[in-house]
Amino acid sequence: MNARMAVLAGDGVGQEIVPEAVKVLKAVGERFHHTFEFVEGLVGGQALDRVGVPLPDDTLALAKESDAVLLGAVGGPKWEGLEYRLRPERALLGLREQLGLFANLRPAKLYPMLADASTLKREVIEGIDLLVVRELTGGIYFGKPKGIEKTADGERGVNTEVYTTEEIRRIAKVAFEAARKRRRKVVSVDKANVLESSELWRRVVIEVHKGFPDVELTHMYVDNCAMQLIRNPKQFDVLVTTNLFGDILSDEAAMLTGSIGMLPSASIGATAGMYEPIHGSAPDIAGKNLANPIATIASAAMLLAYQLRLDKEAEAVERAILLTLEQGYRTKDIQSPGGKLVGTKEMGEAILRNFLQG
Ligand code: NAD
Repeated sequence: MNARMAVLAGDGVGQEIVPEAVKVLKAVGERFHHTFEFVEGLVGGQALDRVGVPLPDDTLALAKESDAVLLGAVGGPKWEGLEYRLRPERALLGLREQLGLFANLRPAKLYPMLADASTLKREVIEGIDLLVVRELTGGIYFGKPKGIEKTADGERGVNTEVYTTEEIRRIAKVAFEAARKRRRKVVSVDKANVLESSELWRRVVIEVHKGFPDVELTHMYVDNCAMQLIRNPKQFDVLVTTNLFGDILSDEAAMLTGSIGMLPSASIGATAGMYEPIHGSAPDIAGKNLANPIATIASAAMLLAYQLRLDKEAEAVERAILLTLEQGYRTKDIQSPGGKLVGTKEMGEAILRNFLQG
């Protein structure tokens, strides 16, 4: 296969972790005989400093012309006081909007050897392997009317939860397709006992499910789901939900596993998807070879599986990550007694070595 990837390392630790993931992707290309092309682009604060905007036109064009985008992170204290349109984080919204990325996929998987990094008991979290599929471009964050208006006795703030059949249909399809790569169980999360938009959500999800009879579908109210994620997270395989509910539940699910440096994400749409760690630019540890590159390398594995449909290759990368952790390699954020403490580069090298020997 031939694939072109836009590599947007961005700010802070992005500059350290993305090269480690690119090395692994290059090795995947060589071992499995694919021709991968990597083209770097400026994004975030780095772009702002060099060309005056956080998302330059040529970066956007590059993303649009590529098969996938691998992103590090954007932002940092240097750019915090700037007006909204110049903030590095604007680049993310611009990319999501322009690439039509309507689905956000966030797996939360617990590596058994890291169970003690979680705030929950080992027996509750051991074996967690779930995926939150969040609708990303609809719902209450975008619905109209919205705003704050004056009233006779004060002010009134309004947001509107809106979903169309088509928006629900396409996200449900992503969830069912993702479930087919996993344990074939989907829980659709809504608030259909109170909200009409959720009533439609549930109806459309049931309709789409008819095309996926091999996948089990159940429904759960969001308040119950928030509770079940803490009580018995192992029951979940794929969770599919709205923008607002997904925003909250995906952070909750992420924290079950303990470390932010371990968790990848994918935002997908009709064309090029964007693959990035869930964490930010970590300015407190940037430039010190301290960042954990695993979230970014795991994001590269998602790129292989979800964008390029190279499941075997993705599994080989995931196996290399697991083996490296089994061998005791630890960056500072996941340090454990008896572990081999290493930096960003050394962790990347160990994963690459295990991939090449796998
Ligand atoms: P952050 O995720 O950057 O850091 C939170 C904490 O986690 C820090 O203590 C950091 O050292 C640690 N951490 C993060 N990634 C790590 C890694 N790979 N290995 C080890 N430790 C890691 O969140 P923040 O501090 O709130 O934000 C910093 C900047 O990043 C802000 O400018 C924010 O706007 C931006 N941000 C960007 C994204 C993105 O690019 N997608 C996401 C979140 C925050």
